[in-house]
Amino acid sequence: MRFDDQRKRMVETNLIPRGILDQKVIEAFLKVPRERFVSAQWKEFSYQDHPLSIGFKQTISQPYIVALMMSLIEIKETDKVLEIGTGCGYQTALLAEIAEEVFTIERIEELLISAKKTLKNLEYTNIHFKIGDGCLGWVNTLPPVSEFDKIIVSAASPDLPKALLSQLKINGKMIVPQGSSSRQELIVYEKLENEVLTHYHGGCVFVPLIGEGAWDN
Ligand code: SAM
Repeated sequence: MRFDDQRKRMVETNLIPRGILDQKVIEAFLKVPRERFVSAQWKEFSYQDHPLSIGFKQTISQPYIVALMMSLIEIKETDKVLEIGTGCGYQTALLAEIAEEVFTIERIEELLISAKKTLKNLEYTNIHFKIGDGCLGWVNTLPPVSEFDKIIVSAASPDLPKALLSQLKINGKMIVPQGSSSRQELIVYEKLENEVLTHYHGGCVFVPLIGEGAWDN
């Protein structure tokens, strides 16, 4: 089956029946070619609903979990989104399909260089890249943006990443897979004027977030 058909089938069998109903998310998944983000040896598995190795002990996330995370924080056309953990750039592309601008940080330089190349070849022009510790957020980095509408952390954090919460706008939402290094829960933090609401959305398994206030290397 052609990749285009496999992509459509993945959306119809793995996303929509499991409750992914946000039309913007569905359209982004129908458009972004996951096969372009995985190495030759894994291409034939591009549209199976599970993570795949991208080298450096890292993974491209399971499509359903990415779709769920994007739906839970309600990515909008006017959003400036901060993504922690670019990896191969697949989720970055999905975010860039919907949001106004995406700011993405990856700690492994080789992965960032490769993701940048793939995303450039796919002609995305609304993505800004940073190499470094995403736990610190988008600081001393061009373009200068101090607050984001949405923040999506795509590695497992032991705790609430406080520096990131401080870079979330009032009425903004941040999603974090939070828990132990082997098992986490998806948590959405909703920042209001005088309080932060916490919403729990079930279990997941991510590679560890390595950096300040998270796990050691
Ligand atoms: N978003 C990716 C996708 O589209 O499938 C998957 C990301 S992968 C599950 C997690 C990534 O987070 C890895 O590439 C890892 O190197 C990165 N990472 C871990 N800790 C980090 C940190 N403190 N700052 C930036 N990136 C980090």
